[in-house]
Amino acid sequence: MIVDDTSIQELRGRLGGRVFLPGDEGYDDGRKVFNAMIDRRPALIVRCKGVADVIAAVDFAREASLLVSVRGGGHNVAGHAVCDGGAVIDLSAMKSVRVDPRSRTARAEGGSTWGDFDHATQAFGLATTGGIVPSTGIAGLTLGGGIGYLNRKYGLACDNLLSADVVTADGEFLTASATENEDLFWGLRGGGGNLGVVTSFEYEVHDVGPVLGGELVYPLDQAEEVLRFYRGWSSEAPDEVRADATLLSGPEGPCLAIIVCYCGVVAEGEKVLQPLRQFGSPMMDAIAPVPYATVQNLLTEVFQPGLRHYWKSGFVREFSDEAIGAIVDSFATAVPPPFAAVAIEHLGGAISRVGEGDTAFSHRQATHSLLVLRVWQDPAESAENMAWGRACYDAAEPFLDNGVYVNYLGDEGEARVRAAYGASYERLVEVKTRYDPTNLFRVNQNVTPV
Ligand SMILES: Cc1cc2nc3c(=O)[nH]c(=O)nc-3n(C[C@H](O)[C@H](O)[C@H](O)COP(=O)(O)OP(=O)(O)OC[C@H]3O[C@@H](n4cnc5c(N)ncnc54)[C@H](O)[C@@H]3O)c2cc1C
Repeated sequence: MIVDDTSIQELRGRLGGRVFLPGDEGYDDGRKVFNAMIDRRPALIVRCKGVADVIAAVDFAREASLLVSVRGGGHNVAGHAVCDGGAVIDLSAMKSVRVDPRSRTARAEGGSTWGDFDHATQAFGLATTGGIVPSTGIAGLTLGGGIGYLNRKYGLACDNLLSADVVTADGEFLTASATENEDLFWGLRGGGGNLGVVTSFEYEVHDVGPVLGGELVYPLDQAEEVLRFYRGWSSEAPDEVRADATLLSGPEGPCLAIIVCYCGVVAEGEKVLQPLRQFGSPMMDAIAPVPYATVQNLLTEVFQPGLRHYWKSGFVREFSDEAIGAIVDSFATAVPPPFAAVAIEHLGGAISRVGEGDTAFSHRQATHSLLVLRVWQDPAESAENMAWGRACYDAAEPFLDNGVYVNYLGDEGEARVRAAYGASYERLVEVKTRYDPTNLFRVNQNVTPV
């Protein structure tokens, strides 16, 4: 589809923000996303300044029959923030966060990152469950569910969502909450970017910090033994603690790291973490009382933008000795140079106490998620690195269930999309058909309308 100059001029006249066309200064920066494997060339990028611009952009794209992608934080590993030949509705300039400490709520625009959100809320000692790397967008993360260090105490990011402002495919502005457009509100909490452009998210926020956080690091040859202990300890742990066990090849060589965040009373946390800290012989114990922001920044250095990523993930079904052995073996027999990891993330707690059908997120009973990730710089190494990631995932697969977390999914085909939405898929089709019958919003883990 070629967009003519007159209609671009008309669009510019409706916008407070900017339009970038191929060749414009800013166009190439605007089409870059977090994962450098993605190299897409949209026909135009509409950098919105507010709701009025989002409405104008949606109307324009629909009337011109353009493919549409929506950009929040641009972190999606499959690159769904950008598209080839279509319109990117770019919210990256919409980042305001307003905290109301009295009502313990925070409203953040759809282009905010978790860094923006934590900065604003922590000024009041408040936080909600959010991504563990500050540059991740609140939008994509919340719409897919949203796991983070606080998830066992306060549930998923989407469980803390009180309302959302949405521009739907027909350019209408709606608010979705427990009392307004309830079906839309249900679908926004786990259904990904299928239902419209969310211009702002209103969250419940909680007293958080200082936390007891940091990492324990073990040599790789202790990994199996420590993981067997971690399995029992993490299943009994109170809601205040999330502890992720990660096999990783970092700059100092391969190791097992357990990153911990205890968000309750620090003195209690010391007692809770004691058995874990006393087990085995860690090379490093860097757990201490720290501001919440310190834990949220532990991985910032590793996850710089502009690197190539391959991810493959599933929920752990069987955390047996055999599973641990297979996962550690496959990692240890071919440890690649930095950075590669198999992360076992700690779920359960408050996540599991929300009813299965209450939100579109449908993996409430998973206790751990497993994510294989490989990060590199040189495009010449892509095939080899992706093969490593696939082999590592294949070794773990017999111990995973049929589901997958939608926010960790690459472009892996229809069956995996259905696996991501699980039991919510059919109802999501109904809601999608109501709010986006022509599938305008399809550059995502797509639910096809009837
Ligand atoms: C380094 C890194 C760390 C991560 N850590 C975590 C983590 O701790 N917890 C976790 O749960 N996930 C995590 N993720 C996964 C993350 O949730 C997804 O990548 C998510 O898609 C990011 O959202 P975004 O807004 O940055 O993405 P984008 O790429 O901008 O968008 C992702 C999807 O959401 C849609 N979308 C974006 N904005 C909007 C909007 N305003 N309205 C409607 N649809 C929209 C897009 O169209 C696209 O389909 C991480 C990812 C990375 C790369």
